[in-house]
Amino acid sequence: EASKTSNFLRQIIEHDLDKGTYASRRWAGSPGDAAHHAAGEPDPAKIRTRFPPEPNGYLHVGHAKSICINFGLARDYGGVCHLRFDDTNPEKEDQEYVNSIIDAVRWLGFDWSQPGNSQPYQASDYFGFMYRAAEALIEAGHAYVDEQTAEEMRANRGDFGKPGVDSPYRSRSPAENLARFRQMRDGALPDGAAVLRAKIDMASPNINLRDPAIYRIKHAEHHHTGNQWCIYPMYTFAHPIEDALEQITHSICTLEFEDQRPFYDWLLQRLIEGGLLAAPAPHQYEFARLNLTYVVTSKRKLAQLVNEGKVNGWDDPRMPTIVGLRRRGYTPESLQLFAERIGVTKSDSWIDYSTLEGCLRETLETTAHRGMVVLNPVKLVLTNWDEVMGAGHLEPCTLPALPHPPEGVASPLRHFQIGKEVWIEREDFAEVPPKGYKRLFPGNKVRLKGGYVIECTGCTKDANGHITEVLATVVPDTKSGTPGADSVKVKAAITWVGVSDGVQAEVRMYDRLFSDAQPDAGGKDFLQALNPNSLKVVTAIIEPSLAHAQPDAKFQFERHGYFVADRVDHALGKPVFNLAVGLKDSWG
Ligand code: ATP
Ligand code: MG
Ligand code: MG
Repeated sequence: EASKTSNFLRQIIEHDLDKGTYASRRWAGSPGDAAHHAAGEPDPAKIRTRFPPEPNGYLHVGHAKSICINFGLARDYGGVCHLRFDDTNPEKEDQEYVNSIIDAVRWLGFDWSQPGNSQPYQASDYFGFMYRAAEALIEAGHAYVDEQTAEEMRANRGDFGKPGVDSPYRSRSPAENLARFRQMRDGALPDGAAVLRAKIDMASPNINLRDPAIYRIKHAEHHHTGNQWCIYPMYTFAHPIEDALEQITHSICTLEFEDQRPFYDWLLQRLIEGGLLAAPAPHQYEFARLNLTYVVTSKRKLAQLVNEGKVNGWDDPRMPTIVGLRRRGYTPESLQLFAERIGVTKSDSWIDYSTLEGCLRETLETTAHRGMVVLNPVKLVLTNWDEVMGAGHLEPCTLPALPHPPEGVASPLRHFQIGKEVWIEREDFAEVPPKGYKRLFPGNKVRLKGGYVIECTGCTKDANGHITEVLATVVPDTKSGTPGADSVKVKAAITWVGVSDGVQAEVRMYDRLFSDAQPDAGGKDFLQALNPNSLKVVTAIIEPSLAHAQPDAKFQFERHGYFVADRVDHALGKPVFNLAVGLKDSWG
């Protein structure tokens, strides 16, 4: 697609589609192998990508990048992207995470369903095939059961520049290996007593090729297969098989897996030779993971923040999880824009957090309704109101909800009213104005935005000298939108909310969770970098239109920034808003 910026993945895909790299591909497995295998014979004209999370935690902004890349490529090239749960590690996985991942991918705007198949794929459906593949490798002399201790295995693996040492079990016959492997499967051996290893090369300069373990014993219940298995495939063995069974064409992962690619290729070639899989094999491509300043993107560290009570759960609006970003007010469009803007590269770098914030601002600028909110209120009394407007008079006012609506769309109007008393920001009054100050000080005139021009006359104070009320007079016939509006020139318009119709709201002012731009770089203790002021809760006064917000609705609080009605805690009669992101131009 011409509108999308090209990158190395797009070039590879365009080349493969052009050359028909996968055009000859035929399904080789038997139909029962992949329970959810939906497509039957592959469509050679289509690319297939996949997003393969392990359901052991909540997805974060780095996963959002991977989702947007994989689903985005499939969408742009008329292909298919599979959502696949890489559930080969029974002890750490849970249905709760499966559900949250499904929600996150859907919310981001992507869909994996194909005609006749709306289920996500799951690696555990292939355990039967993987087991047969392991036996086939053993029979062909490509795998053996090793009964060295874990320490012996580690020691004998060697190191960079130092070749490994063959295991004493390496020369067992296929028949012996097969019998022992079946004993592993049948539960005759305890956890850790033996592993199945691929037989490749103990002297390979690539340590990943020094007879990697491919199956281990784990007497553990699996959230999907229950107690059917007590041996489980290792990730490095399972993943290429998952890709091949699902006829993935382009298997896209992060750079840490680059050294695993030779094993990925080795394994699939052996299984193609053995007739278990069809050529051509899927191919792995690596891109740079997302490193975002001021956040950590490791499920383990995010879990620590939750478990140690540093944040209020996985969906705390300060968390870089997708549920956290969503609760903070991020939109799917903003995350898609972010993924597009940061692009796909082959070298690691850091992306500045402000890039993410800029994408949110851009998507909310034209869509978020405006509203006036006073975050730090002081009462303003219009001392001549009763005399010039009538005692107790309330004057209806309106402003557009969208100052720059899209072409041909009329902005809805917000309705509110002005009376003798209104709330203003404390910082909008100065008894003695600093140089250049244009807001309220004795003798100065300003406009109450959408209301009248007023002239400040002073203030009242309590015994401690604390300002309790600001005093002003209203200038009649200057109401916004009336012919007299321009009769008095003023240098500033300030935001306000009427005392008669303003509503109290809880507003959660969020700042960055960490004070350090790279909280976990170089093995630093990220908990030491927590920002102690990342949340400040204020009681604000909001205009009436905001009091009727639906949960999850986004607004621009004029001059303050973009806010969202909290998905969880906001309710009619009990408004709660979260700061999503500040405005680009800070208030002058
Ligand atoms: P974590 O390190 O947070 O535990 P993971 O990589 O182990 O994440 P998986 O569930 O295995 O989590 O990830 C699913 C997919 O998301 C993988 O293809 C992985 O490469 C990708 N991914 C994970 N983190 C990032 C990131 N920071 N940037 C881009 N892609 C990522
Ligand atoms: Mg992983
Ligand atoms: Mg990881």
